[in-house]
Amino acid sequence: MLGTRSKINILGDPILRKKAKPLQEVTAEYRKLLSSMAASMYEHSGIGLAAPQIGVGARLIVVDIGEGLYKLANPKIVKRQGVQSIQEGCLSVPGACVKVRRSRRVWIEAMDENNRPLKIEAKDLFACVLQHEIDHLEGKLIVDYASLLEKLKIRRKLKELRKEARIRKL
Ligand code: ZN
Repeated sequence: MLGTRSKINILGDPILRKKAKPLQEVTAEYRKLLSSMAASMYEHSGIGLAAPQIGVGARLIVVDIGEGLYKLANPKIVKRQGVQSIQEGCLSVPGACVKVRRSRRVWIEAMDENNRPLKIEAKDLFACVLQHEIDHLEGKLIVDYASLLEKLKIRRKLKELRKEARIRKL
């Protein structure tokens, strides 16, 4: 797969700000999409990825913090407990690192890729990543949690990245 790096949408792309639509059913097509999302996540050394990041407005996420791959459809937080703040990065906001205050434990209800209902009890990093990916389905990004100063830094960095990308294309 070398040389076929899949594209991840970057901050500024409107799809990242749209609320993703729930699935009626995980069809074969969506199963394929979940597999390519997982491949993209591993390829970019991410620990989570949401469908809008690859341009699809459906409520699908993949997560793997090194303890196994989760492919989830329509994930929903049904209960929260505690607080934690972790420095988070995002494949859609390259170069940025934002400390985000989230729940320490979350209880999630979702559907697996075979349309079976799934309940997950997550804590610490796993809970953090799940909340980050579910944020993506709501059109929310880590920059929304950043301070004004951090936001300015992120904007400057993205501008540089875009300039670089333009130069490379020439
Ligand atoms: Zn992200």
